Amino acid sequence: MKLNYRRVDLQLTHTWAIARTTGTNTTQTVVVELTGADGTIGLGEAAPIARYKESVESVEAFLQKMDPRGLSFKDVEGSMKYLDTLSPKDMSAKCAINIALLDGAGKQQKKPIYDLLGLGFKENQHITSFTIGIDKPEIVRKKVLEAERFPVLKVKVGAADDKANMQALREVAPTKTVRVDANEGWKTKEQALEMIQWLASDGHVEYVEQPMPASTKPKDWAWLKERSPLPIFGDESYHRAEDVTKAAECFHGVNVKLVKTGGISAGFDALKAARKAGLKTMIGCMIETSILISAAAHLAELCDHMDVDGNILITNDPYLGPTSENGMLSFASAPEKTGLRVCARK
Ligand code: MG
Repeated sequence: MKLNYRRVDLQLTHTWAIARTTGTNTTQTVVVELTGADGTIGLGEAAPIARYKESVESVEAFLQKMDPRGLSFKDVEGSMKYLDTLSPKDMSAKCAINIALLDGAGKQQKKPIYDLLGLGFKENQHITSFTIGIDKPEIVRKKVLEAERFPVLKVKVGAADDKANMQALREVAPTKTVRVDANEGWKTKEQALEMIQWLASDGHVEYVEQPMPASTKPKDWAWLKERSPLPIFGDESYHRAEDVTKAAECFHGVNVKLVKTGGISAGFDALKAARKAGLKTMIGCMIETSILISAAAHLAELCDHMDVDGNILITNDPYLGPTSENGMLSFASAPEKTGLRVCARK
């Protein structure tokens, strides 16, 4: 097995901010390519999350430490065990390798990854939300207008302007379904409850993601869960299947991201465990290319909600995979038929 990797600069359509960051117009991701002895190429991607002390530099350091001879398209599980011996963390780097291994495995077996996993993929079924980052009310109004064709919006909150921003959104989309993501932005359970009650009075907010910091005590989460008029979903609080018992006490649902779990295989486990525990499931994303977006889409059948818009928030996606016309995820026109179903844009 041979390994190649490169950094890719992604250009955002709009300046992007969430509760814990200031505005940015570009972000970096790392694309990996594994080439097997038969010439099969597996593609993967790491979109590292600074919140978990990961960066393009930490991804590259992990890849340099890794011996690609320890990997095989024929033994994805064994290959992942090898990666775990190198570091207990580095989830986004492991994610990139896991995706590339499954892409290669699928290509060799002439099957899409969703069939390798036994899930399949139903067309005309899975709608992704479109995300509106934190901004000034006049910009929020413009972004919501531009997103008119998307039936579900995800709105980032956790700033001083939250109420003014929601009002701006409602001026242009009075009854559109909205999911709210506070990214740990509300600091006490009382503040979180007050904000969720206010959001519930809107009548069209579906749920609220990560209202408080992941460090919040379970008894405070349970307090909020009991009183919240809207379902609350854990994101920063839910990483992998082993977190599920705690998550079931604290939340109504969870947001799984492949760069938190360490790839599709562990994402599959995290979603299965959540459903088994009676939690609602969603799959989320970072600002990323069609490689990671497609990887998440292969798990759609395990998800109640999809938030996989990272590739449509950028203007220079180098890859072509599933489409999301009007928010509807579809593999129907993906030129690549096997593995990840992604190829380089010509
Ligand atoms: Mg989130």
